[in-house]
Amino acid sequence: MIINLNGKLVPQELAVVSVFDHGLLYGDGVFEGIRFYGNNIFKLEEHIARLYDSAKAIMLNITISMEKMIEETVKTVKANGIADGYIRLVVTRGVGDLGLDPKKCKESFYFVIAGKITLYPEDNYINGLSITTVAVRRSVAEALDPKIKSLNYLNNIMAKIEATNHGSAEAIMINQQGYVAEATGDNIFIIKKGILITPDLSAGVLAGITRDTVMALAKEAGISVEEKIMTRYDLYTADECFLTGTAAEVIPVVKIDARTIGSGKPGAITKKLQDLFHGVTKTIGVKVK
Ligand code: PMP
Repeated sequence: MIINLNGKLVPQELAVVSVFDHGLLYGDGVFEGIRFYGNNIFKLEEHIARLYDSAKAIMLNITISMEKMIEETVKTVKANGIADGYIRLVVTRGVGDLGLDPKKCKESFYFVIAGKITLYPEDNYINGLSITTVAVRRSVAEALDPKIKSLNYLNNIMAKIEATNHGSAEAIMINQQGYVAEATGDNIFIIKKGILITPDLSAGVLAGITRDTVMALAKEAGISVEEKIMTRYDLYTADECFLTGTAAEVIPVVKIDARTIGSGKPGAITKKLQDLFHGVTKTIGVKVK
């Protein structure tokens, strides 16, 4: 595998990061996960825009322009010669000293990996996931805003550990007010009486690019969409439920906290949105030529 290390294409064995990099020492950095389908990098511009917003929010100066970052990402995919896969684009605060002061880091550092990812077994896409709400709360915006896609994922990891300890594949995180937020790396949707509903961004969730795509596709298909504050009651009484994320794509949920959702099988609207989503993955985005 060929890795883009701060603008240089190098073999995987040479793609190493300093132990003094604050991305490693403090989780001080930002990242994106991006998929490409049939040589089309899905919504690359949107991912790059979110990356630069995350960086701006933490006062991290990315050394290259957004246009150049798009070029570097395309270049990395091309170098690996694969048509379908998953990109991990990481920007760290860079090398500093052992203190946490980011001002000691002279220059930020980035790398791009273009590889593969499988989040859930194929069976879960056909028959659905069983998930659980967890005690670990989603971090509050006043501490670390969930809109920032930062390298500090411990909040999500703690939730994932709790869910898997209970034999569940994924966690649903509740916010400080007790409202539904999101999964550890995915947004959540329900369908109730034909309406597609997802937690409002004010619940403290990442503004998912797959979330946006699915909402737009639903509206085009004549399905009403609501972003609102949701409780666990809404999840338990939903007709259908699914998660969205770049790596997970659109994945049905059939059980939450041991309650069967709807018929216990992935619902018709979920399946339709899965199909509509796959229909646009090769068209919207930046082509790898
Ligand atoms: N929420 C969290 C916490 C995430 O990390 C992600 C991305 N993996 C998502 C939601 C989904 O966002 P996207 O659709 O942009 O991948």
